[in-house]
Amino acid sequence: MPAIAVIGAQWGDEGKGKIVDSLATQPNVVACGRFTGGDNAGHTIKPSPNEPSIALNIIPSSIVTGKPSIVGHGVLVNPITLYNEIEKLHGLGISTENLSVSLNSHVIMPYHRLEDYCLEKCKGSESVGTTNRGIGPCAADKANRIGIQMWELLNRELLSERLDFVIGLKQPLLEHVYHWDGIITDEKLRTAIGGYFEGHKIKKDAILDDCVALGNKLKKYLKETRELVNKYIKAGVVILESAQGALLDPDLGTWPYVTSTNPTIGGLLIGSGISHKEIAYVLGVMKAYTTRVGGGPFPTELKDETGDRIRKGGNEYGTTTGRPRRCGWFDAMPVNLAIDENGIDGLALTKVDVLEGIEPIMFCVRYEIDGKPKNSIHSVGQNCLGMVKPVYIEHRRSLQEYKGELEAATAHIDILSFGPGREETRYNLSDELRNLLY
Ligand code: GDP
Repeated sequence: MPAIAVIGAQWGDEGKGKIVDSLATQPNVVACGRFTGGDNAGHTIKPSPNEPSIALNIIPSSIVTGKPSIVGHGVLVNPITLYNEIEKLHGLGISTENLSVSLNSHVIMPYHRLEDYCLEKCKGSESVGTTNRGIGPCAADKANRIGIQMWELLNRELLSERLDFVIGLKQPLLEHVYHWDGIITDEKLRTAIGGYFEGHKIKKDAILDDCVALGNKLKKYLKETRELVNKYIKAGVVILESAQGALLDPDLGTWPYVTSTNPTIGGLLIGSGISHKEIAYVLGVMKAYTTRVGGGPFPTELKDETGDRIRKGGNEYGTTTGRPRRCGWFDAMPVNLAIDENGIDGLALTKVDVLEGIEPIMFCVRYEIDGKPKNSIHSVGQNCLGMVKPVYIEHRRSLQEYKGELEAATAHIDILSFGPGREETRYNLSDELRNLLY
């Protein structure tokens, strides 16, 4: 039995959490996992109309179904967030017995969050608009081979030595490169990490004590997940959930306004440790419109009342930061790029309900630069995306017909979502996907 990959086909926040939750409940699915990103990505699940929404940042949405849920080594893990999420789930009466977190996930440390904050400040008007979660600096330490992995939290002596070395590098970086003034103006960040700093100084002992304590609390969840995923694949279908969206990929997306891990199919393979031969279906998730968080070109952005209406109707505010998302019309160009680069077999279309009552609905089918048609982002060149003029189709008929037109402009739509609840979903599964799930 193989794996189904679920990938955001836009700039993230497409509603992957709900789609994974719907898939996770199907009979053949034996496990789900997240394999890229960190706690900068959020997903929200609403299991039934009478139950409250559950927002999670690290733990896969499948946890509410009781099926095995895995956080693979490709995820950058803030152990504080992870522990708080586990506690939150327990508070809601949801078991975490079936949760496994990779021993080899890299740990997001308080100094990563501070570095993220300082770097964004240094960039000024060029800032990316990160979530201050420390993702970029943690990914950089991984690449520089000075990162700390989850298993290291289980060995105080070793961790102490490792922190001496890393903090020895970070301290002068903060003071003399970023010229940090010892003040964290962002209140949320100050509350979260303020206790790990004294003036300019990183308090190593506070970090060490808390990391060791968290390591002990999380010990029972820490596993060799690569082996586990491969074991589950032999028993049934495994859902591989990506984070963010394809256009935020640092290699394939709209660089530099991207994230620091690869949310595309390659990232899922590397972050889970399975062979590409195991991927039987790639499901792309896209919204009936487009959103973007932070900076970067956005050809179909609506800076008017319609944009405000979509933002309000779709509750387009970051799960992690509460920041309003930039909203605009559906754009087939980024979705088609995601389809090509990830081998997307079928799509889930979400948030169709949000466009209800808006007329006309527009969607972009190609771009123009200086009157010349451009039929793909490749032909535009990512550096020129800010200069394009979107060419729209105007739509005045039913949302069902809108779906048909989107399908014609992109790919087959397997799943249609018209509300946050599990029951607000319509399936038109391709034979391939149906055979995998049932
Ligand atoms: P992710 O970042 O792609 O995992 O996105 P989330 O799972 O956080 O989804 C974003 C938000 O949209 C959540 O609050 C969901 O409950 C909500 N949502 C998902 N699908 C739909 C839908 O079809 N309609 C509406 N109105 N909300 C939806």
